[in-house]
Amino acid sequence: MFDLKLTNATLPDGRTGVDIGVSGGLVTAIEADLGGEAGEVIDAGGQLVSPPFVDCHFHMDATLSLGLPRFNESGLLLEGIQIWGELKPLLTQEAVVDRALAYCDLAVSQGLLAIRTHVDICDDRLLGVEALLEVKRRVAPYIDLQLVAFPQDGYYRSPGAVDLLDRALDMGVDVVGGIPHFERTMADGAASVTALCQIAEKRGLLVDLHCDETDDPLSRHIETLTYETQRLGLNGRVAGSHLTSMHSMDNYYVSKLLPLMAEAGVAAIANPNINIGIQGRHDTYPKRRGMTRIPEMLTYGITAAFGQDCMMDPWYSLGQADMLEVASMGLHVAQMTSRNAMRQCFAAVTTGPAEILHLDGYGVEVGCKADMVLLQAADPIEAIRLKATRLAVIKGGKVISRTAPRQSKLSLTGRPEILDPAKVGPRL
Ligand SMILES: [Zn+2]
Repeated sequence: MFDLKLTNATLPDGRTGVDIGVSGGLVTAIEADLGGEAGEVIDAGGQLVSPPFVDCHFHMDATLSLGLPRFNESGLLLEGIQIWGELKPLLTQEAVVDRALAYCDLAVSQGLLAIRTHVDICDDRLLGVEALLEVKRRVAPYIDLQLVAFPQDGYYRSPGAVDLLDRALDMGVDVVGGIPHFERTMADGAASVTALCQIAEKRGLLVDLHCDETDDPLSRHIETLTYETQRLGLNGRVAGSHLTSMHSMDNYYVSKLLPLMAEAGVAAIANPNINIGIQGRHDTYPKRRGMTRIPEMLTYGITAAFGQDCMMDPWYSLGQADMLEVASMGLHVAQMTSRNAMRQCFAAVTTGPAEILHLDGYGVEVGCKADMVLLQAADPIEAIRLKATRLAVIKGGKVISRTAPRQSKLSLTGRPEILDPAKVGPRL
C-alpha cells in the first residue's frame, strides 16, 4: 500500500514507463508496472518526473523591491548596489518577510523547493537576517532555505562588517559569504577570502563567495579561494559564485586554474540571466558575454550550477522563479547546444546545485525524499525548450501545487481543436 503512486513516468536519466511508489514521505519503489494499492494515483502520461528545481544563488532580501526607491537606469552592477544602499534604511522587517513569502509561493508553483539566498549583513540592525530567518522557519515545511551571510558593501570596506558577519552566523545563518572583488584593493580582497575561509573552517560551515564578478581578467580571487579551500581542508564545501572575470582571463592561466579547482573540489555557480545583462557594459563592440566557463569546468569534473540571482530587484527587472528559464539562458550563453550539454544544463538547475547545497535525500531514487515535479514535457531537453508547465509539485509525498496543462483551443478548418505544445515534435 502506497500513499501516492505516479504511473508511466519518464525520469531525467532517460528511464521511461516507470511507476514511482511513495510511502511515509519517501520514494519506496521505482519499477515498471508497480503493483499495490495507493491512496492517490497520478498518471504521468509518459511525461518527465524530476526532482525539484534548486536555486543555489538568490537574493531574497531584495526580491520584489523593483522600483524602490527608484529604477536602475544604467543597468550597471554598481548602480544596483547604490539603489540597494538607498533602500536599506527604509526597509521594515514586515515588508521583507512579506515580499520573501510572496516569492516563495511563486517558487513552489514553479517546482523550486530548495533555495540558497544571500542576505546582506552590512546593516547595524541585521534586519534582513532576522527577516529571512523568520521566512526560513515559516517555509520549512515546503522549501529548504539556506542563508548566506553576505557583506554586500565589503567585508573590510564596510565599517562593522567583520563583526556583523560573525553576529549573523551566531544568529543561525548557514553559510559564509563574501565579495573580494569589491574590497578596496586586490590585497584586501585576497585577505578577505583567507579570513572568511578560516571562519568557515572554525565553525564547520560551507562557503559561497561572490567572487570576481567583474570583467577585469586580472581579478583572480578564485585562485586564492581554491588555495584556501585546499589548505584548510574545505574540499567539497566551497562555491565560487559568478566568476565572470574568468570569461575574460588569459586561456593559459585558466588551463592551470581549472585543474586546481577540480582538485580542491571548489564548485562554480554562474548566474546567466544576470551575467549576460550586467557584464560587458564597459565594452563597445564586440561586447563580452561575461558568463564563466561552465562547459570547460564540467569537462574537468568541477561541480557547476546555474543560479537565478535576482528577480524584480535593483539589479534585474524580470524573472519568474523559473529555473528552466535560467537553464535556457545558460544553455544559449555558453553555447551548450549538443544533446549531452543540454542535459547538463538541466542538471545545472537540479542535481548540480543540490550537491552544492549538500541536500540530503535529493533525487527520484528509492530511499530519497518524495519531492518531485511532474512536467509537461517528454524529457529534460523538452522541459528547457518549453519552460514546461509544472503540472504537479510534490513535497514529502503530498501534492502542494498543481497547474493546468498548457494547451490552446484552435479554430482552424481541418486541423485539431486542441494543441498541446509538448506534442509538437519532429516528424520523421
Ligand atoms: Zn548574487
